[in-house]
Parts: sequence; C-alpha cells; structure tokens
Amino acid sequence: MTNETAGPGTASAEPVDIVIVGAGMVGLTTALALAGSGLQISILESRDVALERVANQLIAQQAQGYDPRVSALTCASQQILAHIGAWPAMAAARVSPYTDMDVWDGEGTGHIHFCSRELHEPALGHIVENRVTVAALLQQLAEHSNLTLRSGVQVSGLSAPLAGDQRRLTLIDGTELQAQLVIACDGALSRTRQMAGIPLLEWDYGHHAIVTTVTTEQPHQATAWQRFTDDGPLAMLPLADPHRCSLVWSTSPGHARDLQALDDDAFCQVLGQAFEYRLGAITGSDPRHCFPLRQRHAKDYVRPGIAVIGDAAHTIHPLAGQGVNLGLLDAAALADTLLTAIAQGECYGSERVLKRFERERQTSNLQMSAAMEGFKRLFNSQQPALRLARNLGMTLMNRLGPVKNHVVQQAMGLSGELPPLARRR
Ligand SMILES: Cc1cc2nc3c(=O)[nH]c(=O)nc-3n(C[C@H](O)[C@H](O)[C@H](O)COP(=O)(O)OP(=O)(O)OC[C@H]3O[C@@H](n4cnc5c(N)ncnc54)[C@H](O)[C@@H]3O)c2cc1C
Repeated sequence: MTNETAGPGTASAEPVDIVIVGAGMVGLTTALALAGSGLQISILESRDVALERVANQLIAQQAQGYDPRVSALTCASQQILAHIGAWPAMAAARVSPYTDMDVWDGEGTGHIHFCSRELHEPALGHIVENRVTVAALLQQLAEHSNLTLRSGVQVSGLSAPLAGDQRRLTLIDGTELQAQLVIACDGALSRTRQMAGIPLLEWDYGHHAIVTTVTTEQPHQATAWQRFTDDGPLAMLPLADPHRCSLVWSTSPGHARDLQALDDDAFCQVLGQAFEYRLGAITGSDPRHCFPLRQRHAKDYVRPGIAVIGDAAHTIHPLAGQGVNLGLLDAAALADTLLTAIAQGECYGSERVLKRFERERQTSNLQMSAAMEGFKRLFNSQQPALRLARNLGMTLMNRLGPVKNHVVQQAMGLSGELPPLARRR
C-alpha cells in the first residue's frame, strides 16, 4: 500500500533539513547522533511529551516503581548512548548491570553459563527501563538548539520524491514540512514505511510475551536467567533491587491467555514452578502486560529521501534481548553515513548515499532475525533427535571456552563490524 502523493513542493511547506518520525529510543538517538551536523532537524512524535516533566521524572525515578518495559542493553548500545551524552543521566537514574547469564533447557540437561569475569569485563550488559532511556535522551535533546521536538502530532501524508529527492510530509492538522531526508523511526507499525510503499516480510512467532516486574524470595545475583520450555523461553532479568526481576515469558497465545486470567497469587505460584524455584518462591507481581510477538523485516530500508530504521524496519523475538540494540546500531550507522556524505559535499538524502547505510545494516539485521527464528524453532521442537542435539550442543558449548566467549562477545557488541559511535573510545 502506498499513500504517496506526487506533485511539486508547495510554497507554504516549512523547510527543514531532516524530519525524524518517532521519538522512541531509536528516533531520539538518531537525532542526537546528528546534532553536531548543525542541520535543522524536526522530530515528530504522536504522544504528548512535555520536556519540562522529563528532568523531574529522571530525578524521581528511584522513588517510582519499575517500568514493565525494560531492555537488556549491550556494551555497544551503552557506548552509543554515552557518545551522545545520555548514559550519565541514565546511570544516575537507574540501570542494572548484570555480570552473569544462565540459560538452560527446561526439558533436558542442556545448560550454559556466561560470566563477565571470563571476558575481563565489568558486566555483560545492563537492564534498563525503557522509560529511563527515553527520558535521558529527551533531556539531552533540550541541549541542542538545532533539534526541535514536536509532540502530539500525526503524519498523514508523504509526497513522492520532489526535486533533489526532497520529501514533503503532511501532518494531520494540515501543516506541511519539506525535508531533504525523512527518517522513519515510528515503530513496528510504521505509518511512514507504509506511506513510502516499502514492502514488509512478516510472520507470527506463535508466541505472546507476558511482561511484568516480580519479587523473588532469593536475590537474583546480578544474573540474567532464561529457561527454555516447550512453550517458549522464560526470562528473568535482574533489576537494581536484588529481589526484583523483570519477567519476559514468551509462550503460546492460549497459555498466555490462561496466565493472564490468573490472580496475582496463582500467577506467582505458576511462575515459581515454571522457573524451577531457581530464585525461591515468587512473592509478588506487578500488573501483567501481554505482547503478541511477530517477526518483521522491511524488504528495503531506503528510498530516495527516506530511511527506515529500528522497529520500523525490523522486529525480532525478544529471546536474546537484541531488538533495540539493533535499532541503536542502525541509528549510529545511519548517522555515520550521513555525516560522511555531508563532509564530502554529497546530497545526503540521495538513494546512492542511503544505500551505503542499507548495505551496512541489512545483512547483519537479517542474520540476527534468522538466528532468532532458528533458536525459536530449535527450542520449540518436540522431536527427540533435535532435543538431544540441542542439549548436547549447549553443554558442549559451555565447555568450549573460546567458542562461548566469541559468541557472547558478538552478542554484547564487543566484536564484529561496529559503527564508530558504538566503538569504545
Ligand atoms: C516483550 C518485549 C521485550 C523486549 N526486550 C528487549 C530487550 O531486552 N532488549 C532489546 O534490545 N530489545 C527488546 N525489545 C525490543 C524493543 O522494545 C524495541 O526494539 C524498541 O522499543 C524499538 O524502539 P523504536 O524506537 O524503534 O520504536 P518504538 O519504541 O516503538 O518507538 C516508536 C515511537 O514512534 C512514535 N510514533 C508511532 N507512530 C507515529 C506517527 N505516525 N507519527 C509520529 N510518531 C509516531 C511512537 O509513539 C513511539 O514513541 C523487546 C520487545 C518486546 C515486545
């Protein structure tokens, strides 16, 4: 489907250099990564975001309950967020480093343990509430006069490429903006991607994720725990309080419905049992939320004057906690491509320039999607031969230190091709 409207730019359209649609973690990171360019950048967000409230939110974070939406941020993501100035405010508000990861097959003997000490690293990553990341990014946005946030606005139209590959965006109130480049960061159901006519490959994982914060009898030991069951993976991610974990329980839609129907006490009991009481009893649970999980991948990430990144371009199963990490790498890679093109006097909205970004990111995002699909199928399989193979494979890999370390270093964003913003200083 395309809602593109052809035609010349209107004289009344407000000129800006770049429009970013969506002020989530990826959109805000992109804006900040481009702040030094001096370009005039407008960020459009459909939610109502009051910047004045953001600073207070961060300061009061410690006193608030936990955001049910958290992300396991890799070292590469931490580097990106540090380079654009957001990490210190996040660290001051609330982040939870985890030093260990324990993964086991609930239907067999397979087990693997990762430990930051073996890698001579202080942590494998950080569990961070999405609310904290967004608030720190918004706070940082206010420091740059060339970045303008317009919240409470909806994009309703997108023109075909105009002269010089410019695009015109129409907002629902009739306002028009004309830009050299539109960056779609408007999430999984991206309207901008749809309006640009970019096709999407999409299928259902057959899983729903139950997400909440729970209290455990025993401390979590700064460990990210994951048990694979026949129905799907159950992850308990350590929060700043040693007895609080963020739960991401991926399971069949029917089982998810049954779990949602339980009262809190019954849910805690069922969860404790499903988690094999690794942290003792589950003694409390916050309200539960349920997310259907779908894999999506945009066939193209770019068109003349358009780039699509983050969840707008791809969504994957949360079992390896990589979704927003891929989005932040997209943001860093796109900013690097654009800044290099600007320095060389190229038209940064041209498809020729944008294709460089697509080549850099699409293959590795596809590889990660394929790996998540493979994991999901492997652990969902009831076939005895596959079950045996996965259990032996996990146990063998646990014993092969160098192989295991290589895998975890890739997952942490410590090795492999990384955009400059994601590298350590
Ligand atoms: C259960 C679950 C657990 C997860 N755990 C992890 C994890 O541990 N680690 C990890 O890396 N990832 C994880 N993810 C994935 C991660 O949450 C997403 O990848 C991330 O939130 C995507 O960020 P984004 O900025 O691309 O999109 P979004 O967060 O969806 O932001 C999009 C923004 O655009 C705005 N918007 C939408 N439409 C419009 C419009 N038309 N006009 C203007 N604005 C618009 C929205 O209001 C929103 O602010 C998980 C996902 C799920 C479902």
